[in-house]
Amino acid sequence: MLDGEQYRKSLDDGRVIYFEGARVPDLAEHPLLGRAVDTVADGYDHWYDPREDARNPLTNVSASSADLQAMLPLFDEADGLLNLTYQTIMCLLTASSRIGDSDAPYPARMAAYVRDLQANDLRSALCITDAKGNRSLPPLRQEDPDAYLRVVDRRPDGVVIRGAKLHITAGALAHDFLVMPTKAMKPGEEDYAICCSVPIGSPGVSVVCRTSAARVEDTRDFPVSRDGVLSEGFVIFDDVFVPNDRIFLDGEVEHAAVFAHSLGLWERLKALTFMADDADVLVGLAQLIADANGLTRVPHIREKINDIIIYATLVRSGLLAAVSSSKVTPEGVAVPDECFTNAAKFYGAENYAVMVRHLHDIAGGSVVTAPSMADFDNAEIGPLVEKYMATGSGVTGRYRTALMHAIRDLTADTYGGHNAVIQLQAGGGLHAQRLVTRKHYDMAGAKRRALERTRLEAPASA
Ligand SMILES: Cc1cc2nc3c(=O)[nH]c(=O)nc-3n(C[C@H](O)[C@H](O)[C@H](O)COP(=O)(O)OP(=O)(O)OC[C@H]3O[C@@H](n4cnc5c(N)ncnc54)[C@H](O)[C@@H]3O)c2cc1C
Repeated sequence: MLDGEQYRKSLDDGRVIYFEGARVPDLAEHPLLGRAVDTVADGYDHWYDPREDARNPLTNVSASSADLQAMLPLFDEADGLLNLTYQTIMCLLTASSRIGDSDAPYPARMAAYVRDLQANDLRSALCITDAKGNRSLPPLRQEDPDAYLRVVDRRPDGVVIRGAKLHITAGALAHDFLVMPTKAMKPGEEDYAICCSVPIGSPGVSVVCRTSAARVEDTRDFPVSRDGVLSEGFVIFDDVFVPNDRIFLDGEVEHAAVFAHSLGLWERLKALTFMADDADVLVGLAQLIADANGLTRVPHIREKINDIIIYATLVRSGLLAAVSSSKVTPEGVAVPDECFTNAAKFYGAENYAVMVRHLHDIAGGSVVTAPSMADFDNAEIGPLVEKYMATGSGVTGRYRTALMHAIRDLTADTYGGHNAVIQLQAGGGLHAQRLVTRKHYDMAGAKRRALERTRLEAPASA
């Protein structure tokens, strides 16, 4: 296993990173992106075990739904590993099982790649979302044929790929990318049916980063976004050579969607775990600020907090149902239930904004106008800020202001806006979850039950 320092050193692999118009010469030393490096490095230190055969427990593959359930607490401690590596491993194992027996060399290569990630403690980020050009046109009808990543050359020893993958979580922080088609492909679109892994330092790869990490010296007003924000990468593959042993699909359009669907399931499970935690935090903040504002017993405030409690409970129920109803593939991998995962992710994403609205309604305007924590330190104005932000009964101005900053940072500022979009879009937008839920829902069973309950007979055509 690697420790945090070894991880930092491993970033010196020729990777080409840009941030706000400038090339980043040393990622670990960058004032903003370096904090994301710290988060991943802290994760390495957290899990580090010097024994020769030690392996990060978050790269273990669950063999039963009980195993998967037992891993949920590890997801909370993941420090970026959920976005990096775990999802890659689970996506490949799920896709490999769904593709099934094949004469192609792909299953063996996927298995070897998974073993490599586990054995060498590498971080692999997931590159699925293409630039996509005009959303209503398929790849071959785009003005720019590179709007979807494609193979532009095939050689005896590998392929050359061109295109871009957008929004890639922790894109600059990984060692490797798992690249896959973002959607189903049709005959004629063989060049777009490519799945492969690419080391980030490969010639032709560039990552343009964005981050919603706090940009201030005094981070007391940003208790959420001051650390732990991973950043996203706009990853460009400008004629990148991929050797054969890293190719997991090349041209088999009938399997192109399998990777996206497999990843979608694990991405949504991950999103659900984050959502379940965020939901409890929303409940906690709503109750704390209601207490601090002296509104604990007011009926409409209680009702709004009750709504958030129901939301948090339902999101967690969906997560637990998804995991406890896992199905085990013939290869022995426990895979969460599609219907529960997608329906719960849909519900959580659709209602998140309403819960945040409740929190803002309960908290009041100080969420965005409270003085800075630094104002309390000013000898002239600090005591007056304290006096007017305090609400009595031991609730100091400092404490109440800090709560307001926590709410603003989590839900109403740069990171809060980022968080609102991620709840909706991570793992695909609402429509994608609606489609998958419907596809896996037992419609025949529902119709049968409806007929039985209402003592109707199905028409002969049904
Ligand atoms: C913070 C963040 C992190 C992310 N991390 C990753 C990551 O690590 N890896 C990765 O690969 N992706 C990642 N994503 C990307 C995410 O999966 C996409 O944002 C999501 O799938 C939507 O794609 P899009 O952004 O291109 O929006 P669009 O595809 O443009 O979707 C916008 C809207 O248009 C609708 N739409 C689009 N096309 C059609 C059509 N043909 N017909 C009907 N409706 C259509 C959609 O349903 C949606 O309502 C991340 C996104 C965010 C915001």
